[in-house]
Amino acid sequence: MDNCIFCKIANGLIPSATVYEDEDFRIILDMNQKIRGHMLILPKQHYADLYELPPQLAAKAMLLAQKAAKACQKTMDIDGLNLLQNNGEAAGQSVMHFHLHVLPRKKGDDPKFPAWDEESISSEEMKELADKLSQQLS
Ligand code: 5GP
Ligand code: ZN
Repeated sequence: MDNCIFCKIANGLIPSATVYEDEDFRIILDMNQKIRGHMLILPKQHYADLYELPPQLAAKAMLLAQKAAKACQKTMDIDGLNLLQNNGEAAGQSVMHFHLHVLPRKKGDDPKFPAWDEESISSEEMKELADKLSQQLS
């Protein structure tokens, strides 16, 4: 993808604060540090989102997230950690190249992030929804 910023960063065509690199992925510091240590895990090949990402790379992204989380735990005084992965504009995705956010957390840091109001849903609707999803998953 010629005009994709994350293709360029992941493949070293644009410099970045790289913390890890292998044949499939690069892990960089996000240029807008939502919190100190905020990282992005980027595949080197262009996949727009989780739906496009091949399963073996999806599995590897999670393994790298675990490594990155452990590195945070060892090097920073953190109390928690979030993984965040947005798909589609409605979900807040702004760069249409798959990326997984790694967000170290401190007690008392911005409690609004991430925060959603709960949706009210009846137990019947819950059962119907679980059945529908379960048919697709099995
Ligand atoms: P999204 O909202 O799509 O899940 O997150 C995109 C993230 O990419 C944002 O947190 C944004 O700060 C980060 N980002 C966008 N462009 C660049 C860039 O050129 N370099 C780096 N390091 N991060 C970027
Ligand atoms: Zn790309």
